[in-house]
Amino acid sequence: MKTIFYHVFLTLFALCHFSFLVSSQNNNTQHYAIVIHGGAGNFQSGNFDKELYNNYYSALNSVLKTGDSLLSAGVDAITVVEICIKMMEDEPLFNAGKGSVLTDAGTVEMDASIMDGRNLQAGAVSGVTKIKNPITAARTVMENSKHLMFSGQGAELFAEQNGIELVAPEYFIVDKQYKQYLELKKKDKGTVGAAVLDTYGNLAAGTSTGGMMMKQFGRIGDSPIIGAGTYADNASCAVSCTGHGEYFIRFVAAYDVSALMKYADKPIKDAVAEVLQKIGTAGGTGGIIALDNKGNITMQFNTTSMFRGYINTQGERYIAF
Ligand code: ASP
Repeated sequence: MKTIFYHVFLTLFALCHFSFLVSSQNNNTQHYAIVIHGGAGNFQSGNFDKELYNNYYSALNSVLKTGDSLLSAGVDAITVVEICIKMMEDEPLFNAGKGSVLTDAGTVEMDASIMDGRNLQAGAVSGVTKIKNPITAARTVMENSKHLMFSGQGAELFAEQNGIELVAPEYFIVDKQYKQYLELKKKDKGTVGAAVLDTYGNLAAGTSTGGMMMKQFGRIGDSPIIGAGTYADNASCAVSCTGHGEYFIRFVAAYDVSALMKYADKPIKDAVAEVLQKIGTAGGTGGIIALDNKGNITMQFNTTSMFRGYINTQGERYIAF
């Protein structure tokens, strides 16, 4: 009798073990998705000259391509968010990192945040002037500090102590050859952001910006504020916002998208539409990209346009602005 029990036990154990292996393999072969934005604004890409149009297109395309190859290689969502946003920070076409817009004092002050949907961990920096890649600093705050957000000089000291690259503030101000881009940005203040679903079913989001053109020295927008400009929760969605930050803070925009999904059972498209509608009614303009834990993507704005693109779970690549 004892041996029968022993064999039944062994068989059950083996079956459980096998199904655990199968399910962890399934987790690892799930389809992935990424959605990015390069800011919403009142521009019309039809008015761009060919060179400017092509430059924006290829910048967005290479970010999506990089995201695609990282995700297909099994890299996790939070790392893909960081790398993709870093690429856009290094690209002067966008208002984040190099090429950030200027404050009324003629300086560059940047904000960034990142959030991991696995565990609701998050990190942010605000009002930084010397950190080459604010999104990397935000991730390092999340991982190497007991705090969630650092501002200004404290953020720069933290970055330095953690081996993050600092540059002279002039690095961020692009030279005359980008004058046309600067002209464009005066009207169209575009932040950058990404939301990612990885092959393990995890969500992450991040946002990085130079803020709004001619913002008052010291002003902080929505981008570094978790729940306003950025939010990610595996139970609902990953969100990144762009636009008139004061409105996105007041309406706790990114978290509201997640809450509408979680507590009111709204599909992601309706949740984003509702939040943008509230912001629009109050007089705010901007856009939201979001991705749910099934890979459903939405990109909406109440401005004329938004630099945007995605790769969905079918592997389709889409770019528009
Ligand atoms: N939301 C950013 C801010 O208010 C600006 C932008 O998205 O263009 O700082």
